[in-house]
Amino acid sequence: MESIPYDKREGKIWFNGVVVDWKDAKLHVLNHGLHYASCVFEGERVYNGEIFKLREHTDRLIYSAKRMGFEIPYTADQIDQACNEIIKIQNVKNGYVRPIAWRGSEMMAISAQKNKIHFAIATWEWGSYFDPKIKEVGIKLNISKWRRPAPNTIPWDTKAAGLYMICTLSKHEAEKDGFNDSLMLDHEDFVAEATGANIFFIIESSKEIHTPTPDCFLDGITRRTIIEIAKDKGYKIIERKIELNELKNFEACFLTGTAAEVTPVSQIGEYTFKVTKSIDEFFNKYLEIVNKKKVSV
Ligand code: PMP
Repeated sequence: MESIPYDKREGKIWFNGVVVDWKDAKLHVLNHGLHYASCVFEGERVYNGEIFKLREHTDRLIYSAKRMGFEIPYTADQIDQACNEIIKIQNVKNGYVRPIAWRGSEMMAISAQKNKIHFAIATWEWGSYFDPKIKEVGIKLNISKWRRPAPNTIPWDTKAAGLYMICTLSKHEAEKDGFNDSLMLDHEDFVAEATGANIFFIIESSKEIHTPTPDCFLDGITRRTIIEIAKDKGYKIIERKIELNELKNFEACFLTGTAAEVTPVSQIGEYTFKVTKSIDEFFNKYLEIVNKKKVSV
């Protein structure tokens, strides 16, 4: 399945209010979303046939669109319903959901006041974001030459497509040099996040977890879930500005995200980390929570 290009797969896609054949979910090349990144999206996971924290994702999607100056022509209830409908049709039990909204083709210049807002939802069975074997021993990150932009330069607290340009550039550079992902610093050179996941650092001796304050990057839904889990396990969460040269003080490091789930990190540039038992415990608790509904029925 992994090797089949995404536009050549079988199945159905929810597309502007109707369920169409996968191959027919097309758009024209003269499209504002494509040319000017007038586009917002979500990334959701299905566990045991249910989308984890669907309403939070839907609310963030609607918020992302608002920050980009447009309104998705469906209510949160309608979006939730459509997501649930398409995972049923596709029979996705453990997979990924990608709702996406974009400006159409009515105007093709910087201004796009009259453009129709399109909305689609695709979903497919999906496993681990990082290779499970590498995940066990911890992934390796380089340090990106690209910075997370300052909060007054872009709608930073969204999943707007334009924000991902520097993520792809960073990740490609990392992969070229044999790393699995890239650590991005912010506009003031503080530690920010990976290309599609938030970052945490552990000091086991004092049961402290340090994580950057999300003031110029996404405060992930997984991030917030893990903070609750770690607090429940007696860890003190310290959200603050973290300098790169402080990484030597931390024993362990992990990433969180809908796709990355909980992924241990063994190396960031010259800094190395242990894969501690606590990361495993956070991940196991996370899996328990995301699968909870079906387990407890
Ligand atoms: N940062 C970025 C840049 C991301 O793309 C993601 C994935 N959505 C995250 C952080 C983590 O967010 P979440 O836990 O809500 O998936």
